[in-house]
Amino acid sequence: MTEPKYKRIVLKLSGEAIAGEAGFGIDPETIKSMVSEVKEVHELGIEVAIVVGGGNIWRGNIGSEMGMERAQADYMGMLATVMNALALQDVLENNGVPTRVQTSIDMRQIAEPYIRRRAERHLEKGRVVIFAGGTGNPYFTTDTTAALRAAEIDADVILMAKNNVDGVYNADPKLDATATKFENLTHLEVIAKGLKVMDSTASSLSMDNNIPLVVFNLNEPGNIRRVVMGENIGTTVQG
Ligand code: UDP
Repeated sequence: MTEPKYKRIVLKLSGEAIAGEAGFGIDPETIKSMVSEVKEVHELGIEVAIVVGGGNIWRGNIGSEMGMERAQADYMGMLATVMNALALQDVLENNGVPTRVQTSIDMRQIAEPYIRRRAERHLEKGRVVIFAGGTGNPYFTTDTTAALRAAEIDADVILMAKNNVDGVYNADPKLDATATKFENLTHLEVIAKGLKVMDSTASSLSMDNNIPLVVFNLNEPGNIRRVVMGENIGTTVQG
């Protein structure tokens, strides 16, 4: 059997991916299919850390638009990611995958605090670690959290799971029939071309720390395994 390309991965799951077709809230069926994908790579012996988003429940900019103070609204967004993390943990554990949730903001009754070395130890012991609460700071995103945690735990790659989009395009493929997909990009190209892969803070952090990124379609069953096994799907961003 061929060896997996990556040993330790950070999987970024957006809130949108957790909402499924509904586009809002938590869809149990969507989480179940996501979990079976994660279980598949976990069984290959891959160390899996997950960074969850929260946009399916709340985003800081929604609050700002309503006239809320931005930082306050962002803290609500961070709390939303914790709800997603707990939902994901529940389904993973029901499917026999051992997990730990670590939050960047202390919530000791429901999850461990984020401790880098402890997270690494969990991964070595075969537990899936779910990082919740984003970076713990307003004005950031969970994409930046994915880049930050990937750097901290020395992950081999960030897998950026997208909803029904199979990579990075030069235009929105849902709106423009002539849009073409990039096979490979550099982080600098992503920033310079203003491509919607991650926000620029997340891209800069990934670039500065040399973290490769694979953008792929989560809705295609088996895709996480394909990426981990080194199949050329989606768009790879590195360098
Ligand atoms: N957030 C934040 N700091 C962080 C991560 C997230 O303030 O480090 C807040 C921010 O308001 C954001 C919300 O949490 O809008 C949800 O996160 P994100 O938008 O990254 O989720 P996703 O788009 O992946 O669902």
